[in-house]
Amino acid sequence: MDIKANLEVIKKSFPNQDCKLIAVSKTKPLSDLKAAYEAGIRDFGENKVQEILAKQPEMPADTRWHMIGHLQSNKVKHIAPFVQLIHGVDSFKLLQEINKQGKKIDRIIPVLIQMHIAEEESKFGFDRAELEEMLSSKEFAELTHVKVIGLMGMATFTENADQIRKEFRGLKQLFEELKGRKLPDFVDLKEISMGMSGDYKIAQEEGSTMVRIGSAIFGSRS
Ligand SMILES: *Cc1c(COP(=O)(O)O)cnc(C)c1O
Repeated sequence: MDIKANLEVIKKSFPNQDCKLIAVSKTKPLSDLKAAYEAGIRDFGENKVQEILAKQPEMPADTRWHMIGHLQSNKVKHIAPFVQLIHGVDSFKLLQEINKQGKKIDRIIPVLIQMHIAEEESKFGFDRAELEEMLSSKEFAELTHVKVIGLMGMATFTENADQIRKEFRGLKQLFEELKGRKLPDFVDLKEISMGMSGDYKIAQEEGSTMVRIGSAIFGSRS
């Protein structure tokens, strides 16, 4: 895999050149992360806490670590001190735990709320009713050590581009709707994390500000 060449091709193909690229390095060896770093990448996405903890001390200090997968509440404390952004906040319980850990170390932790936009049952995330319930609760208004900077979503795994586009468009619409609403000050919606190797172009056309790309950069995962 020529990681540098892959990155050049991918970046050139971005419909939106301002869209941020998170290089998803899960399961990949440090040598691959270093090659991407050498090619200018600073934002890396991982989905396992143990793996972030193993890689983080080995990478330069200005590497930014994004937690992109499902995160168990009991593991938040390990990444709370340094994580750049937690993309997959898929329950209020998890958000409250992140707030609690942030408070302990006096750090305001940036997060995205993960919405369930796919047809599949298996993908994590809030549905609309759960989101509304959280946003209107007293406990939500009282959070002090998180900053909600946007939304994240994963489209259905399908060849049907119209379906994917529809799901991304729905997430963007929700984002705009929430931006027009009166919400607590710690909600400052700027980012939409949507798009992966197979659908990042559609995602950018539909308003993504951050794409999470793994296999197109590093090759397929075994
Ligand atoms: C693995 C993963 C990606 C990257 O997937 P690719 O298809 O390899 O680009 C993006 N987002 C999440 C949440 C992932 O778990």
